[in-house]
Amino acid sequence: YRAKKDMCGLSLYNAEYDPHSPKRLAMMSDLGKAIREQQLTLFYQPKVNLKTGQCYGVEALIRWFHPTMGFVSPAEFIPIVELTSLVHPLTSWVLDEAITQARVWKNEGLDFSVAVNLSARNLLDDNLPSLVRRMLYQHNLPGNALDLEITESAIMTDPARALRNLDELHELGVGLSVDDFGTGYSSLAYLKRLPIHTLKIDNSFVRQMLESHRDDIIVKSTIQLAHNLEINVVAEGVEDQVLLDRLMAMGCDDAQGYFIGRPMNAEALADWINESSWCEHLRHSKEESPD
Ligand code: C2E
Ligand code: MG
Ligand code: MG
Ligand code: MG
Repeated sequence: YRAKKDMCGLSLYNAEYDPHSPKRLAMMSDLGKAIREQQLTLFYQPKVNLKTGQCYGVEALIRWFHPTMGFVSPAEFIPIVELTSLVHPLTSWVLDEAITQARVWKNEGLDFSVAVNLSARNLLDDNLPSLVRRMLYQHNLPGNALDLEITESAIMTDPARALRNLDELHELGVGLSVDDFGTGYSSLAYLKRLPIHTLKIDNSFVRQMLESHRDDIIVKSTIQLAHNLEINVVAEGVEDQVLLDRLMAMGCDDAQGYFIGRPMNAEALADWINESSWCEHLRHSKEESPD
């Protein structure tokens, strides 16, 4: 729905994109139940620093195991949730779950941050900064244990309000990233004014980089632009070694993708940390931890 809207700015009727189609309405009414009945869970995908070779954080990605429909992808249900006020309890649930898990990792001596994806409505919600502050306080976590991923379109919907909320979150020490960079409308002037620490280059550019000279140039120029603004760059969707090598040659800071690690549940992530060459430093800090 969002992709279609963004693409042409108008939409012709298509049941697949209709938020009020029977299937979607059924899904919506089930989602409230899903939150209450714990059908939702978070997977975590590693993010690594290409200069140090170390995993420094994970991104929380929601998964819904519906009792009859089976696995429902967030790409399918998040855009619908975003049209309703259900997005607020959903994000509260994700934040609480991710922050609780971050506390568990810290207790185990694992020092890395967790990133949570926000919807546009969350960013424009003036209660968000105090909600985040309260949750961090409850779990006794510093702001820098949390990263929030927002999109360009969320910022551009109401830049003044977004700026206010982002400033407040920034004051808490929370890291702020622009997700799917390059796919929405954005103004570089605003980027400069926002307390953004990181740009995540959308995987559509990254994955085409080797076949498409234009995508290669887009990625390379984005890295240069970001660095000139003292912003960190994460490449999304790294699926093989060749892409990783190219990104390193371009001076890209960080990477994420199936080649490094897939999204995993907390248990599988613990195994990955024990085995992956990106995690030697984490295994050390774990051994040295008093817990
Ligand atoms: P995103 O935040 O841009 O997340 C990256 C997506 O790319 C994830 O899809 C991830 O599984 C996938 N991915 C990661 N590495 C690779 C790779 O190497 N190749 C390919 N082909 N894909 C890769 P996922 O988990 O299906 O999530 C889709 C989108 O749903 C996310 O895109 C995000 O916008 C949204 N989303 C997921 N969880 C949440 C959430 O808790 N709250 C909100 N508001 N949105 C969420
Ligand atoms: Mg994201
Ligand atoms: Mg992304
Ligand atoms: Mg994306």
